[in-house]
Amino acid sequence: MSDCIFCKIRDGHVPAKVVHRDDQCFAIEDINPQAPSHLLVIPTEHIPTVNDLTVDHRELVGHLYLTASKLARERGVADSGYRLVMNTHRNAGQTVFHIHLHLLGGRPMEWPPG
Ligand code: 5GP
Ligand code: ZN
Repeated sequence: MSDCIFCKIRDGHVPAKVVHRDDQCFAIEDINPQAPSHLLVIPTEHIPTVNDLTVDHRELVGHLYLTASKLARERGVADSGYRLVMNTHRNAGQTVFHIHLHLLGGRPMEWPPG
């Protein structure tokens, strides 16, 4: 079995608060939320980093963003504002090597990020 925590959550081997699931992605509540609304939108396919995306993933990447905007509306943070972040490798602090779009909302956030 894959050692990837998000593959394990996808397959139901590790519990998580799943708030969305479709044929291309799923979304969960982050276990260590950094904002009142902190969701992770995760492709069903195991893709380690943004560097591993190919042209074949173009539609999938668009779908992740459209799903995030739908979830932001459902969470009531669409108008107050939110941040979508995909960390890549060490300098960005990536810790789970299965790409995921962070949806952070519900509080003001500083820019540029630390
Ligand atoms: P990264 O640092 O890779 O951009 O983000 C990984 C995120 O996954 C972190 O915000 C972390 O809290 C979250 N995370 C790690 N393990 C788990 C888990 O087992 N369950 C859930 N729901 N979130 C997790
Ligand atoms: Zn995975």
